[in-house]
Amino acid sequence: MRVFLNPGHDPEYDSGAVNQGMGLHECDIAHDVGVLAAAYLEKAGCEVRMLQSDNLNGESNYADRQDATVCGAANDWPADIFVSLHCNAANAIARGTEICVYRIGGEAEKLAGCILHQIINAVGTKNRGLKERPGLCVLRRTDMPSVLVEMAFIDNDSDARILRDRQDDLARAIARGVTDYESEG
Ligand SMILES: [Zn+2]
Repeated sequence: MRVFLNPGHDPEYDSGAVNQGMGLHECDIAHDVGVLAAAYLEKAGCEVRMLQSDNLNGESNYADRQDATVCGAANDWPADIFVSLHCNAANAIARGTEICVYRIGGEAEKLAGCILHQIINAVGTKNRGLKERPGLCVLRRTDMPSVLVEMAFIDNDSDARILRDRQDDLARAIARGVTDYESEG
């Protein structure tokens, strides 16, 4: 199975959400979990490509982000599934894991359910369920089953500690979710 991983945001141009007190940036956590998840997926026999860029679908103005777009790279490969990795942020109180899909129903929902189940089991975050988010570019503009994983809330200190200290568990859970989906095929 060809798995496209997209750690959210851009280490150079878009940090994503930030936890000032703990010195955490969403782009770094997404990157580090992505690298670890790629290794687990490859060990499980998947082909993996990964791209972290603020150029999701041609909208970036940065000269050094023009050679590829996230959606284009996934569609041209073509990937069998697409997984975007993010950290949520709200009001410092909200916490938990949720996974966004273009629409409820179909393959993306199955994939999202498998990954959500594994993450909740692995790190014990609050289960916030699956969310329909048709406006998200990486869900709307990719041709394959696509999910956007909001691993936990970076602005909630208890969730942020999970994002900081349990990256290997998060990565393994994401990889297991993918292989669960593959074997349910
Ligand atoms: Zn994000």
